[in-house]
Amino acid sequence: MWDFETDPEYQELLDWADAFVRDEIEPLDLIWPHLQFTPLTDTRRKVVDPLKEQVRQKGLWATHLGPELGGQGYGQLKLALLNEILGRSQWAPIIFGCQAPDTGNAEIIAHYGTPEQKESYLRPLLDGELFSSYSMTEPQGGADPTQFTTRAVRDGDDWVINGWKFFSSNANTAAFLIVMVVTNPDVSPYQGMSMFLLPTDTPGVNIVRNVGMYGDREDQGSHALIHYENVRVPDSALLGGEGQAFVIAQTRLGGGRIHHAMRTIGVAQKAIDMMCERVLSRKTAGSLLADKQTVQGYIADSYAQLKQFRLFVLYTAWEIDKYNDYKKVRKDIATAKVVMPTVLHDIAWRAMQVHGALGVSNEMPFLGMVTGAAALGLADGPTEVHKTTVAKQVLRDYKASDDVWPSEWIPRKRDAARERFAEYLELEVGNL
Ligand SMILES: Cc1cc2nc3c(=O)[nH]c(=O)nc-3n(C[C@H](O)[C@H](O)[C@H](O)COP(=O)(O)OP(=O)(O)OC[C@H]3O[C@@H](n4cnc5c(N)ncnc54)[C@H](O)[C@@H]3O)c2cc1C
Repeated sequence: MWDFETDPEYQELLDWADAFVRDEIEPLDLIWPHLQFTPLTDTRRKVVDPLKEQVRQKGLWATHLGPELGGQGYGQLKLALLNEILGRSQWAPIIFGCQAPDTGNAEIIAHYGTPEQKESYLRPLLDGELFSSYSMTEPQGGADPTQFTTRAVRDGDDWVINGWKFFSSNANTAAFLIVMVVTNPDVSPYQGMSMFLLPTDTPGVNIVRNVGMYGDREDQGSHALIHYENVRVPDSALLGGEGQAFVIAQTRLGGGRIHHAMRTIGVAQKAIDMMCERVLSRKTAGSLLADKQTVQGYIADSYAQLKQFRLFVLYTAWEIDKYNDYKKVRKDIATAKVVMPTVLHDIAWRAMQVHGALGVSNEMPFLGMVTGAAALGLADGPTEVHKTTVAKQVLRDYKASDDVWPSEWIPRKRDAARERFAEYLELEVGNL
């Protein structure tokens, strides 16, 4: 079967979600911006909880999770269709129970957690009662995890963790951390690192500062520099087995990356919507902006870029549902990750340009989108590293030529073709 249509029942839900996000949720972005990294106070809960309840009643809460975890088991393709709507708003993923970094964190606890870990951390996380943080990058290196030095050492029945982590998003608000550390420095890092699950208020977890993104106020940062100083945790804090960190990280980051790509479609579409409205509204040098050829080029290029990206993301989500194994979809997840920052950057930049001075002002959201695109080229690993992954995976399907000439070298192929059809060629020559 090969189909590009959404089934009518789910489309109805998507239409509901679209109107709900625009009318009920997008206004929250204006009164409580940067919300996802600030605690849900009682006042905010009065607004947010009834919205979550409406989502639950529609059966759209954490839809990608199976019913045993409180979702509908709709999978990644349907999540993609929903996430491209939710991507328009910072608050929407929280109100639909599928926000980063919690979705990726929930996924690995569901996959590798013990029953006790699921009860303590996963259940409240999925109920939207608390937030989580993933603490992997270190100040001296993020792209290459083999550089990590944060260490856990056994001490009786406990482990004691020491070291530094950087850019642990949301640690300030999170109830718990998932931290990746070296547990055995004598073997390859691929076998010598482990993940631990621990409450953020464990003694010795020191949030030294919260780094902000460009444009944030200095006191508004949400990416923590954490000093883990003699942090004592029981053996039961290990997530998965000892030495399993790399395998777990791939599960965690595979899901997270494609979820970012899904939401990015929504942001880029919003930029196109604004661009189109503007060029139809503004006249200069005797005609509408929409009539200028360069501006038409902006629109066509943006439409083409987004359409290709969207189809690719939907296809990758479909592959994840089909294979249920991130390793098999690694090449395409990495490709989506590589393309995503450029798609958003280019579209947001063009939309900003056609808005003139207003476009670069703080009265329009474009520069936030452009810096957001830059962040997407780093979060969950830099573009360059993902390009290497894509290239390596693509090359797996090829082998070197058997001799000095390429297999498509025309003289050799032509000789072979001549030999094969020799009798007909002789006839042609004879008839001349
Ligand atoms: C918005 C945001 C949120 C984040 N959230 C988290 C989080 O929650 N938890 C967490 O642990 N981390 C998080 N990070 C950190 C992120 O994972 C790292 O920034 C990323 O892995 C790169 O590491 P680095 O910043 O140390 O850069 P480096 O590793 O120093 O790399 C710097 C640059 O060097 C180049 N480079 C690096 N390696 C290669 C290579 N192999 N080939 C070619 N060029 C290369 C690239 O240009 C790269 O951008 C977040 C980052 C951002 C921007």
